[in-house]
Amino acid sequence: MKPPIPYSDSPLDRENLRRRSRDWVEAQDRAPESRYLPLWQLMPLLKLGDVRELAWAKREFFEDLEPTPEPVLLGTRDGVAHYAVDVSAEPKREPGFGVEDVASFEDLRAIVAQLPAGDAAIAAQARTLVDWHKRHGHCAVCGGHTRSVQGGANRICFDCQAEHFPRTDPVAIAVVLKGDRCLLGRGPGWPDTMYSALAGFVEAGESLEDAARREVLEETGVRVGEVRYVSSQPWPFPSSLMIGCAAFAESEELEIDRLELDDAKWFTRDALRAALEGRKPDLTVPPPFAIAHHLIRAWVDGELE
Ligand SMILES: [Zn+2]
Repeated sequence: MKPPIPYSDSPLDRENLRRRSRDWVEAQDRAPESRYLPLWQLMPLLKLGDVRELAWAKREFFEDLEPTPEPVLLGTRDGVAHYAVDVSAEPKREPGFGVEDVASFEDLRAIVAQLPAGDAAIAAQARTLVDWHKRHGHCAVCGGHTRSVQGGANRICFDCQAEHFPRTDPVAIAVVLKGDRCLLGRGPGWPDTMYSALAGFVEAGESLEDAARREVLEETGVRVGEVRYVSSQPWPFPSSLMIGCAAFAESEELEIDRLELDDAKWFTRDALRAALEGRKPDLTVPPPFAIAHHLIRAWVDGELE
């Protein structure tokens, strides 16, 4: 099996069955061995050192904070509960928060390549959930206040009892293929040499396949027939799910939407192989923490025929 795509394959059990019991959730809250990951403005606390790892704290660190943050239960590992705690209301303290190791808050996107795979996945879940809770203190139905339930798996409105669940925004991301060529695009503001798979949000009432076809047609003028799912990646900025596809083109001529793309081009397999291996100074592709890298590599390796 291939190594997991970054941000996926979390080692935590989300405990979606046991967290239905309020008693069980409260027992985790009281357990002295429970571990807490502080996030400051959505940046997780990481140990400093040759290998960067998540820096876990004990419950005491936030009990005296005002207002007391509400931890979000991410799941368990070997029976130990793991939480994320938003400490954005506090002044930034590094090191601090009761973490014994020297640690610093880091932008997850900038640091992911240095994290162990499991830690990247946990940080992705933590980042998305903390952001969602922060922005959903009010009910979208009646405007009333909401409260966190089931350890933060969802929220319920105090007034109308409407349930609200953390959102995931699906994005279709596709390498467009025709024979021995692959169509990639360059977004506005990217380096001149950088090309990547084409991506767009799946819209309301739209299938993944229809979204991929529409996106490719709108951005490049290329008509796509068959669309095949390849793999997916959580993208916690703030709550996307990148759904990687191979899109098989039925036309080649380009008519580029210059609002969405600076450029789009058909590339040969040899050119993309050289770019993946860093042998082509005039062409770069996204690094391995992005699903686009894996889609391009899968095509170069003959896996998307
Ligand atoms: Zn309500």
